[in-house]
Amino acid sequence: MTLGGALLLDADGELQRGWISVDGAIITGVGFDDSVVVDVKLDGRTILPGFVDMHCHGGGGASYASADPEQIARAAHTHRAHGTTTTNASLVSATYEDLARQIRALIPFVDDGTLHGIHLEGPWISPDYCGAHDPATLRDPDPDEVARMLDIGAGRITMVTLAPELPGAVPAIERIIAAGAIAAVGHTGANADHARAAVDAGATVATHLFNAMPPLLHRDAGPVGVLMTSGDVTVELICDGHHLGPEVVALAMATAHDRAALITDAMAAAAAGDGDYLLGHLQVRVTDGVARLVSNGSLAGSTLTMDSAFRRAVRIAGVPVADASAAASVVPARALGLGDRGVIAVGQRADLVVLDSEWSVEKVIHAGTLPPS
Ligand SMILES: [Zn+2]
Repeated sequence: MTLGGALLLDADGELQRGWISVDGAIITGVGFDDSVVVDVKLDGRTILPGFVDMHCHGGGGASYASADPEQIARAAHTHRAHGTTTTNASLVSATYEDLARQIRALIPFVDDGTLHGIHLEGPWISPDYCGAHDPATLRDPDPDEVARMLDIGAGRITMVTLAPELPGAVPAIERIIAAGAIAAVGHTGANADHARAAVDAGATVATHLFNAMPPLLHRDAGPVGVLMTSGDVTVELICDGHHLGPEVVALAMATAHDRAALITDAMAAAAAGDGDYLLGHLQVRVTDGVARLVSNGSLAGSTLTMDSAFRRAVRIAGVPVADASAAASVVPARALGLGDRGVIAVGQRADLVVLDSEWSVEKVIHAGTLPPS
């Protein structure tokens, strides 16, 4: 199959008319000339690498924490239709028993390729920066409990967010990394030294940088300053127009350039409309697309999809198209250790998003499979 006539990003990051050949699940050719016969004509469209969402709790009215196969599939398919071809399923803080049940329900969806992996966001996070996590479920990171949870996932837990200032955090980070997962710093009251200790212990992701952590001050860099300037750390950004100001998105993109990843942090209301929802056990009300806890008005995840995060980064924060595309694909792919996707190049998995002239998703090609038109 050869897709042609659409705009693609060239080596200089400019959009140019080009073509992509796909054989099976793999990209076998890319060019910007007229040398090939095109069998899927996509004039007027733009093709970008499929989006990679490291941090997503649900969508389409469905939650990954539901432990309900129908909901898990619906959340994944909702985001797939918005261009996400690789996703982590994120779970908010819960009791050991609840998390174990939720992890077990997600495992078949990791094994069949619907999900990339499971992200535990807590429960080993700070009660002072818990955002929309149920404070009753939070605890210190006992390395043995962390290890037992990782064992339940048996290799499918790809990322764990914890607060590095809590007792036991550094040995817990070491356990997480030894199990082949990513240690992420977030929902934390860390100072700069705590954040640096986490990075030194091997933490490589900042969970929604700026949100649910102390701010960047001019004489006190705090966790934001340390994480944003640490060369091995990928910083997640929620670019929904509510969690971060546009200049803050631009600042993080400029500073962390090839380490800034757009995430959705979406909850069930993504692509499902306003109304009342649950995040874990907590009640959330969504008004005009903004999700807040009913109890205290705290922001409770987003209603983003990755295409919308990409568009907002370009249109609201003024991020160049090539950089916003990279932040939505190759940067999170590399952070997750996935070298086989995230760019449109020969040998890469054929995960592609076809956008119309307004950058709304028209088609999503996942591992070379074109959906029926
Ligand atoms: Zn989250």
